[in-house]
Amino acid sequence: MYSSVNDETLDQIAFILGGEEGVQIIDIIKSVEEITVEELAEKTDIQINMVRKVLYKFYNHSLVTSRRFRDKETGWFIFQWRLQPNLIEAYVTGMKQKILRKLQSRLRYELQHEFYHCGNSGCSRITFEDAMDTVFKCPVCGEALKPLDNEASIDFLERKIGEIERELDS
Ligand SMILES: [Zn+2]
Repeated sequence: MYSSVNDETLDQIAFILGGEEGVQIIDIIKSVEEITVEELAEKTDIQINMVRKVLYKFYNHSLVTSRRFRDKETGWFIFQWRLQPNLIEAYVTGMKQKILRKLQSRLRYELQHEFYHCGNSGCSRITFEDAMDTVFKCPVCGEALKPLDNEASIDFLERKIGEIERELDS
């Protein structure tokens, strides 16, 4: 039914927007055709106010949509919520583009800098420019700084960027 987005992606987005409760709520919404706030609260044991809050967050990010109809017995309006498959895809694409831009700027940073490290796991690596300032002594522990190979980070970033670019192209 929701072939455009896989479950894992959907759960990730639900978690970012609504935390653990968001994941519980989205897991139920995607398993049914339509559902009300009350039914969601009952099935998840999450308070109605919280369910509503999470749903509106999802709604504002185009993750869900709602349909309003009048209850024949009470005459009140009832909202039925459901996943919004088309807009989800647009949302996921937008998120991937954002991640891609972040990874690309990380890669540029890795490529444009040389890094140095003292070898102690508690200390961070520093750039060549900063290492010059401390005459190649670690600013934290004072030990001598050695060049640090960042090939692995570069490989990782290039691989991730390639994956996302292929996903966005398909
Ligand atoms: Zn150090």
